[in-house]
Amino acid sequence: MSGSKGVVYRRLVIRDAMLVNGRGTPPYGPVDILIESGRVAEIVNVDAISLNRYKPERPEGDRVIEAKGMYVLPGLVDMHVHINIADDKCGPEGPEYAYKLFLAHGVTTIRTCGFGTDEQLLEHKRLSAENKITAPNLAVLGSWPSEAHTVEEAREAVKKLKELGVDGIKIIPRPHVTPEMLQVMAEGAREAGLPAGVAIHIAQSSELDALDVTYAGLDKISIEHTYGIPQAALPGTQDFPPDYNYSDEVDRFRWDGYIWHEADLYEDDVMGVLDTMIENGTVWNPTMVVYEAHRDYERAKNMPWHSRYTVRHLWEAFSPQPGRHATHFFDWKTSDEIAWKEKYQIWMRYVRYFFENGGTLTAGSDTAFIYQIFGFALIRELELFQEAGIHPIDVVKIATTNAHTCLGDEERSLGVMKGVPADLCIVDGNPLDNFKVMYGTGVDRYAEDGVTMTRGGGVRYTIKGGALFDCRELLADVEMYVNEHR
Ligand SMILES: [Zn+2]
Repeated sequence: MSGSKGVVYRRLVIRDAMLVNGRGTPPYGPVDILIESGRVAEIVNVDAISLNRYKPERPEGDRVIEAKGMYVLPGLVDMHVHINIADDKCGPEGPEYAYKLFLAHGVTTIRTCGFGTDEQLLEHKRLSAENKITAPNLAVLGSWPSEAHTVEEAREAVKKLKELGVDGIKIIPRPHVTPEMLQVMAEGAREAGLPAGVAIHIAQSSELDALDVTYAGLDKISIEHTYGIPQAALPGTQDFPPDYNYSDEVDRFRWDGYIWHEADLYEDDVMGVLDTMIENGTVWNPTMVVYEAHRDYERAKNMPWHSRYTVRHLWEAFSPQPGRHATHFFDWKTSDEIAWKEKYQIWMRYVRYFFENGGTLTAGSDTAFIYQIFGFALIRELELFQEAGIHPIDVVKIATTNAHTCLGDEERSLGVMKGVPADLCIVDGNPLDNFKVMYGTGVDRYAEDGVTMTRGGGVRYTIKGGALFDCRELLADVEMYVNEHR
């Protein structure tokens, strides 16, 4: 792949755009936005009233984007990403393929979640910050070493990760990780001052649940996915059948379809768990999108973008095959899908409860697993938050400023504001009306004559640290790459 590098202008102007600033306040506009030296230098209100009353001077630039009818949002943050460097899941040009799809969907920051390629990712982080590679900003979570079995080893592991220079830690606690070890990690992470804290995927086989995690004294912790939360509300274990085997992924995901049904019988306890998380400032990153194939396998598999943008290697990695993680759809039944459809209803009710009671949510995709590909999946996650009953303005906040707060990035947590690094996306259409306008495949539109249909939508431009990326060019690059490797 080549081309589509970010272009830096002396004065980049976005003219006549509507602005959603990412702080959860209503959209306004039109505005002109001036970007200089990688930062938002000016936001000028050019609505009719402001023009009449203040006669503002409109900024000029050496590049002007006419954005009438378009919406500007802060760049999105995908808080749960696996960049497959160690395997060939993304084909020979692996990370670049993923990075371009992210940028093409307005994603300017990704939080990578381990898998032992920390050093390469830290190198990408550096190169991206210098605009030397086509990639979003990276927050790199160090992979927790599975061989850390004791409190001493846990202490040593935190030290090593700190020396490596990671932004935080990702852990999937195996059965031998105890609450005491978690506390050591908490202390270590705090002393080391890891800005992005700790992200934890509480495996169902773990001895820990969400309460252990939230009481571990971690300053900054996010619980990934949903595991450990309903489990914490149950009086004992889930009602597994006698032949259940956690290591058999058909079993694991089939029975996970019932965990929220069961927990929902103890509604007060679930709310109690969530209240405790809220009180302790534990973030919840539910990654609803990555499980969608369980409620509708054919839908996830047949999304219109796969034929154009899913590289063969990734398609093969998604396809059911015994012995490969997260491809357990050998005998996925109507009853499994019904269970998962109901599960989503219950799960989303609690996501909404968490939100409405002051909990901090973030948006993550867990790409690339289970037919979810980079960029597209995060937009789908926004749709799922809306499905959970959260207003799109708040959904944008969840996917932008909430994430930066969680990553310890004070500047970007302010959203679109004068003086803040210019990480923005310019959307052809209004995502608050319909998040689907952000998909790289766009949306159908009728012309004013009511007869002609055209293809519109999509994130038109992404700006990262002031560098401008043309999303159509990025997508064309990816499409060519996919075609070359069929
Ligand atoms: Zn993951």
